[in-house]
Amino acid sequence: MSKIARQQSTHLPPDTRRTNFNEVVCGYTETEALTESGRCLQCKDPLCTSGCPVRINIKGFINFVSKKDYKGAYKTITEANLFPSICGRVCPQDRQCEAACILGKKHEPVSIGLLERFVGDMAQQNGWQETRPIVPINRTAAIIGSGPAGLACAYDLAKAGVSVVVFEALHLPGGVLTYGIPEFRLPKERVFKEIENLTRLGVTIETNRVIGRIHTIEDLMGRLSFDVVFIGTGAGYPKNLGIKGDALNGVMSANEFLTRVNLMRGFDFPRYGTPVGMGKNVAVIGCGNTAIDSARTALRLGPENVYIVYRRTLEESPARKEEIRHAIEEGVQFICLTESKEIISDNEGWAKGMNCVQKDETGSSEFLLNVDTVIYALGTMANPIIARTTPELTIDKAGYIETNKENMITSIQGVFAGGDITRSGGAFTTVIHAMSTGRRAAKGMLEYLEAVIAANGRPPKFRG
Ligand SMILES: Cc1cc2nc3c(=O)[nH]c(=O)nc-3n(C[C@H](O)[C@H](O)[C@H](O)COP(=O)(O)OP(=O)(O)OC[C@H]3O[C@@H](n4cnc5c(N)ncnc54)[C@H](O)[C@@H]3O)c2cc1C
Repeated sequence: MSKIARQQSTHLPPDTRRTNFNEVVCGYTETEALTESGRCLQCKDPLCTSGCPVRINIKGFINFVSKKDYKGAYKTITEANLFPSICGRVCPQDRQCEAACILGKKHEPVSIGLLERFVGDMAQQNGWQETRPIVPINRTAAIIGSGPAGLACAYDLAKAGVSVVVFEALHLPGGVLTYGIPEFRLPKERVFKEIENLTRLGVTIETNRVIGRIHTIEDLMGRLSFDVVFIGTGAGYPKNLGIKGDALNGVMSANEFLTRVNLMRGFDFPRYGTPVGMGKNVAVIGCGNTAIDSARTALRLGPENVYIVYRRTLEESPARKEEIRHAIEEGVQFICLTESKEIISDNEGWAKGMNCVQKDETGSSEFLLNVDTVIYALGTMANPIIARTTPELTIDKAGYIETNKENMITSIQGVFAGGDITRSGGAFTTVIHAMSTGRRAAKGMLEYLEAVIAANGRPPKFRG
């Protein structure tokens, strides 16, 4: 067993990071990465890989790192995961690969996430990329949505020679990677560099294009002659609690709040004319990744108190453990086993307090929390726009698109879907799950193109 302690990356001190949006975790230096790679036991039967949703050859890439063959490490990772710089930062390793690491039984597991990030960042720094020449195959694909599912699908299709256009509703690509996960956890520069690799492969990204408004899927496959379509529109539709006071001023959804801060630079007023009004006391309801991101973002905008109000215990939170630790260090206050019952209004229709009930084994008690801003981070729902404009698409009761799980084909010939809009991650929606379904769909689309088109010459006309 390894006697070397797990290498910790340097972190910005909590007092400093509360005041800015700089990245909190600094990442490994080369020396730290080499020491950490030396902790890997190179197991004969590595359980870490089975803990990874896309089955990265983890011991293989770590072995390359230990030999300072970083390019070899990058190649090994990208056989399974196209965005190591992103996933090394945001994957819930504590529930996946690192949870399965044998070393973790008696010591601390190998820090697989930080090693992956180290390799991904090095690749970006050196401009490493897929080098195989692409042979065009005279086929076209439209991808709807530029989140991790759409980007992963676009990547694999482009490498196979398909001409790909990505249609994105917002003015910047990346989906939640860009508008949801804050800068201090995932710098946008990292996301855009990964996306640049994609455009260098020839993929076109058209922003400000809401499919369902400017074109329907029928248009894409008919008038615009795309051979195949992938739907990766995510599940960004906000949920509220349905309690009294939901519609007061000062009450907003986490998606709205994070989008205004991340995408519209709401923290940088007056340079950007899109300020986010923050009260003195902020309550975030929920305790997943979105809630923790919202609370830590709110904290950086200067209120006196930021609370997370959660109906379960902290141990039950689905958020990355590291983010919970960071939030506590930074001063976010957790009020657990507590439900919000009503948001109270002042005379002018602004939130001024929240009635709560705390329950534990000894009973329940009611109290008023003094807050003037309430952010709902209760999970999201499927965005209905595509399904509404494409009645041939089979959706489940909650509006998510149904697919064949093997190749992600929908009820419409030539139309595939993946990521959060298909509930690909089950209870835990993650970047890596979204990417894995995007890739599975790309494989399905290529097989479809080969089989159906070989039989018919061209794909059949749009048919539900
Ligand atoms: C705040 C937050 C923090 C998170 N933190 C983590 C984390 O730390 N680790 C982790 O693994 N996962 C995390 N997740 C979950 C993860 O980000 C998602 O599971 C993942 O992004 C889903 O990918 P996707 O491609 O399916 O959808 P999305 O990332 O939602 O992308 C969908 C894209 O489609 C676009 N779109 C929607 N409708 C249309 C339309 N009609 N026409 C054109 N474009 C359209 C949207 O604008 C968006 O850009 C987090 C989620 C949130 C909200």
